[in-house]
Amino acid sequence: MKDKIYTIPVHDAYLSDAACPLCELEKAAEKNLLEYYLGPAMMEPDIRVTTNDKGFCRDHWKRLYLSEENRLGLGLVLHTHIDDLCKNLGTILDKSVPDKRKGMFNGKDKSYRQRIEKAAEAVEARAGSCLICDRIAYTMDRYIEVIFYQFFHEPEFRQHFAAKNGYCLPHLADLLRGAAKRLDQDEAAQLLAVLTAQQNGTMNKLREDVEWFTLKFDYRNAKADWKNSKDALPRAIQRLTGCRDLE
Ligand SMILES: [Zn+2]
Ligand SMILES: [Zn+2]
Repeated sequence: MKDKIYTIPVHDAYLSDAACPLCELEKAAEKNLLEYYLGPAMMEPDIRVTTNDKGFCRDHWKRLYLSEENRLGLGLVLHTHIDDLCKNLGTILDKSVPDKRKGMFNGKDKSYRQRIEKAAEAVEARAGSCLICDRIAYTMDRYIEVIFYQFFHEPEFRQHFAAKNGYCLPHLADLLRGAAKRLDQDEAAQLLAVLTAQQNGTMNKLREDVEWFTLKFDYRNAKADWKNSKDALPRAIQRLTGCRDLE
């Protein structure tokens, strides 16, 4: 039996009516992590070593700020993270400045573009690294492990899995990658048969719903029923991106 801290949320997500069960799991994992980093953990020295080093991505700094919790804690985390950035990027930026040429024929530096590019890469790497994203990725990987285990060991869960309507595209990719990594050929054949049938069915329905949404703008359809199309646009965008802010 797999670890209960992962199996229980997986069961709950598959019993929920979420359009993508993995989005449901990710949303809960993210909420816990945001609360964690805004809580007493912020003051712990070993946690601060990691926030100083990795920091958060654009989305997660924004969510930490918009939660309006623990402004002092967030300020302290930002201060020591920026301190780390100043030491690290300060030197890299200084080194990226090419020497001025000493005359028409002297002091030509063939590698100055590469050094500026390297500085840009270093800045990007710091801006893109995120403790919350890393921990979500780890947790989602455990969830996928549990999903596969349950699919092959618990007939009841397999029914729940089969009853879903597929996944958002980023999570579909995660499941496919997980299957390629973890399943033998027979297992992959069983799981992918279910997964691909439900995903294709849902995408085809979504295409019809979005099309009908556009056709409703034709005056000849003004009085026709909306069918399933009223919320077709946010549903489609969620399905394509996993974006949760449209709810
Ligand atoms: Zn998803
Ligand atoms: Zn992030």
